[in-house]
Amino acid sequence: MVPGCRRALGPGVCADSLARGVWELVASGLGFAMSLLSLLILVFVLSGVTMLVTALAHVFAPRNRIYDDVGRKLRGSKLWTRVFGNMLFSSALVFAMVYALHGWLFTKEPTSVLTATWHVVAIMLLYDFLYYLMHRFAFHEFTALKRVHAVHHAVRHPTAPDSLYLHPLETFLGLALLIVCTWILGPVGFGTFAIVFGIYSLLNILVHAGVAFDVLGLRALGYMAIKHDKHHNSMRGGNFASITPIWDRLFGTAE
Ligand SMILES: [Zn+2]
Ligand SMILES: [Zn+2]
Repeated sequence: MVPGCRRALGPGVCADSLARGVWELVASGLGFAMSLLSLLILVFVLSGVTMLVTALAHVFAPRNRIYDDVGRKLRGSKLWTRVFGNMLFSSALVFAMVYALHGWLFTKEPTSVLTATWHVVAIMLLYDFLYYLMHRFAFHEFTALKRVHAVHHAVRHPTAPDSLYLHPLETFLGLALLIVCTWILGPVGFGTFAIVFGIYSLLNILVHAGVAFDVLGLRALGYMAIKHDKHHNSMRGGNFASITPIWDRLFGTAE
């Protein structure tokens, strides 16, 4: 008999504590779903603002455009249907993957600023390296995935919305890679993942921005955007990394 139990289901099993346990599990699941939803909404808003700012820069700072693609063919409903479809798909995908795996990815222990900083830097560097390998060998060498990646390369000189002009399988593989990197280096605090996911989303937009400013603080972003613009020109070129130039320089694929 469990002390204080009003309804025993068997020796040592109390219906009250069982119901409390189930309720606590449901409540913590709901609580996590709300945190995840808040993160997605925040990143969604920040991405929208970044897209708007880069679009304005593209219009009002023509001298900073990386390439003036006046004859661009990919526009209108063909562009926007895929961009908005991918936006919804990637949000649903992040929610589903992170929710399903949150027990493996996150720690409930408080994380120090030093540990969180280490996690953010290490996850971004590991992602950058593994993405370099995936992009160079899987998307540019392996026939089946080459066709998938060719959708993104249909854009020869990207601007911010083109960061979402992707085949859904490429969206899935990119997000899955980020989650695998988090899992390898984790478990991390949820706040740490929020920062990683925010940086990942914003850098993906900025590297496709189509503008480069030669001013302190924006020089590195402009450099990566120029490199990525060159990468889009052909399926046979270099510049495979999208966060740092380290791996292209190290493996001789920088252009
Ligand atoms: Zn490519
Ligand atoms: Zn791209």
